[in-house]
Amino acid sequence: MDGLSDPTLLIERAYVGGAWTGEPEVEVTDPATGEVVGRVPNLGAEAATAAVEAASRAFKPWAAKLAKERSAILRRWYELIVANRDDLALIMTREQGKPLAEAKGEIDYAASFVEFFAEEAKRINGDTLPSHRADARILVLRQPAGVVAAITPWNFPAAMITRKCAPALAAGCTVVVKPAMETPLTALALAKLAEQAGIPAGALSVVTGDAKPIGEVFTSHPAVRVVSFTGSTEVGKLLMRQSASTVKRVALELGGNAPFIVFDDADLDAAVEGAMVSKYRNMGQTCVCANRIYVQAGVYDAFAEKLVAAVAKLKVGRGVEDGVTQGPLITPKAVDKVERLLADATAKGAKVLTGGGRHALGGTFFEPTVLGGVRQDMAIAREEAFGPVAPLFRFETEAEVIDYANATEYGLAAYFYARDVGRIFRVGEALEYGMVGINSGLISTELAPFGGVKESGQGREGSQRGVDEFVDIKYLLVAGL
Ligand code: ADP
Repeated sequence: MDGLSDPTLLIERAYVGGAWTGEPEVEVTDPATGEVVGRVPNLGAEAATAAVEAASRAFKPWAAKLAKERSAILRRWYELIVANRDDLALIMTREQGKPLAEAKGEIDYAASFVEFFAEEAKRINGDTLPSHRADARILVLRQPAGVVAAITPWNFPAAMITRKCAPALAAGCTVVVKPAMETPLTALALAKLAEQAGIPAGALSVVTGDAKPIGEVFTSHPAVRVVSFTGSTEVGKLLMRQSASTVKRVALELGGNAPFIVFDDADLDAAVEGAMVSKYRNMGQTCVCANRIYVQAGVYDAFAEKLVAAVAKLKVGRGVEDGVTQGPLITPKAVDKVERLLADATAKGAKVLTGGGRHALGGTFFEPTVLGGVRQDMAIAREEAFGPVAPLFRFETEAEVIDYANATEYGLAAYFYARDVGRIFRVGEALEYGMVGINSGLISTELAPFGGVKESGQGREGSQRGVDEFVDIKYLLVAGL
């Protein structure tokens, strides 16, 4: 790949039990050009089993290290990620399509989890509780759960990996990752830096290949204690069912259908700015992207006009080009979905205010689009578009919009803009979501617990709570004192 300062970061082998293995077979393509940027092994059940068993062997010695030793190794991994930021971002942009500036931002975000959990490793504290007996004491330990299997998506090829691996490794677990096959090269580069940082053989493996058989091993092998998944609700449900036979803990970050509400009393310019980041970041391909923009009647026209003007400033193109803010969508299938939702909405009376179709650049490029006059009976109100389409819904009252916002099986992120302090608390508490951005379109940080309710998932990633999925609570009753 042209432009890498360390070409050895582009790796075409999987990393299983500390060995770089497999033949480069499956093409990884640049969604902006269709060019092949690398090839990775097409591994299956056998390699997944080998990786899980290596993780199982690596578990006891890794868990037995002092917290401070694990912390120091994670800290080195963090420093190597930061030092190789530009190369990692370039690899990401080439395989994923997002603009280089966003890819660099994601590497910083990915690194922040490793930094945070390197620190947190030293503070995975237990409790001593008041006892029910004079001759006994109650101690509560938080011990590493064991082998963790992680399955990650293509929209955040680095951060979704570190957000799982860093807390798991900090707690003393070992991890096997299956990255999305659209974006395995970022995952392999991260694994190489982990190896350099001193994460022992087997403690972190990356298995590329066929999702189904690998997923079956992850969810059925008795050594795996935690399955941590980020991706579609459909696959999340499947993994949860598959994990039932061996009662694994399942952490799920699934789809969303984020409402973004603009009340009459909002700072409209701030709301437009928030809507732009929330909607068009990563070309609309994030599970926390605004999917439905509800605007109160009194400010609807003014908001629509300002949003259309802001969208006109977006620049569509290859992510590696200067000034580009919108890359291609990940696959032709993603474009088909956006087109289908647009066609449904316009057939039912919605109006295209800007954009509205495939971009002149061809391929999977799509015009940043704003749709006006969208209603609850249109498919886009129920389905996650995962593309650069902002549907505007007009509403009258606070009670009405809370009902609309909650009328979905999803519950990941919600946003609203308001200044009235009573409204801020009322609406913030009434929204059935795991995360609510109030006067902000961007909520993600390693310092806060990320996760959803309802069919958007279970468990939290980031913050002190981010280690909870990876520790078991053990109670010791020490009697006869
Ligand atoms: P998306 O539609 O965003 O690609 P998916 O849920 O299909 O979302 O993909 C997220 C991750 O889940 C990817 O790593 C993908 O390979 C993996 N995956 C897809 N199907 C399965 C499956 N049957 N078992 C295990 N993993 C799967």
